[in-house]
Amino acid sequence: MPTDDFGLPAESWRWTEQTWRGHVEAVRAGRRLVPDRWPGGARVAVALSFDSDHETIPLRDGETSPGRLAQGEYGARTGAPRILDLLGRHSVPATFFMPAVSALIHPEEARAYTRDGHELAVHGWIHERNMLLGRDDERELTARALDSLESLTGRRPVGIRTPSWDFSDSTLDIMLELGFAYDSSLMADDEPYEILAEGRPTGLVEIPVDWIRDDAPYFTMDRYGSVRPHSRPRDVLEIWRDEFDAAYRDGGVFQLTLHPHVIGHRSRLVALRELLDHITGHADVWFATHAQLADAARAVLNGPTTARPVPDAPEQTP
Ligand SMILES: [Zn+2]
Repeated sequence: MPTDDFGLPAESWRWTEQTWRGHVEAVRAGRRLVPDRWPGGARVAVALSFDSDHETIPLRDGETSPGRLAQGEYGARTGAPRILDLLGRHSVPATFFMPAVSALIHPEEARAYTRDGHELAVHGWIHERNMLLGRDDERELTARALDSLESLTGRRPVGIRTPSWDFSDSTLDIMLELGFAYDSSLMADDEPYEILAEGRPTGLVEIPVDWIRDDAPYFTMDRYGSVRPHSRPRDVLEIWRDEFDAAYRDGGVFQLTLHPHVIGHRSRLVALRELLDHITGHADVWFATHAQLADAARAVLNGPTTARPVPDAPEQTP
């Protein structure tokens, strides 16, 4: 962060145009990557993801009490098996983003994801706060996470979601250096896009996320605070159903981020079950892992100009 002569954060209203423009252009959304039709002639792509954080959230913060760790353990012991069962019943694939420490605590779970035809992808080492790390530490932890998941499952992950969707000044460079095919941490669009670095195309596909399509903001709470943000699962279902219905109309992507320790509870899994019933009740739906979706998006980038603008969306800058 730029600072003034006293080491305080620089006052943004004093920035030159070059400075504020430089911040905005550092990491930016480029071309929107939506084909005429998704694979198999589908009109909508559905990309479900689960962030299997489990115990790493309290561990990351140095909270080692059995009580806090048990809340994460629930995700592995109770949530994940229920989710795998539900996905199996609907015969749909998903992507599981798993911090390496979580995968090392639960190696059988990590292997079960790939064995059942799902994708396992990188989600940091211990759900670290990359905004607090220097470049070397962030790179080393990301590389170690990549190697750990590969040695556990025999497959090298191709995708990454940063812990808590944070992006430091070094994150994009590290992703490119380590050869990731896609990222799923940014929010500049509803549809996949190419990430630009200082205006230059990087070839890295972004599969955007949003807090709207995440279970955690609706269901988690800070027990020492006064706010109790618990939502009724079927109210949340209605939001996600509206998101899917609009994506279906637009011919775009419906992407969802859930957490086994959050959505895996009996009363909340109802929302996912009814959402899957709703989606599978439609014709021409392509369920894809994030890696498969990134491949289809990249085909737009590399292929002839078959991309079309999504209805109600502004034209793309190149
Ligand atoms: Zn996470």
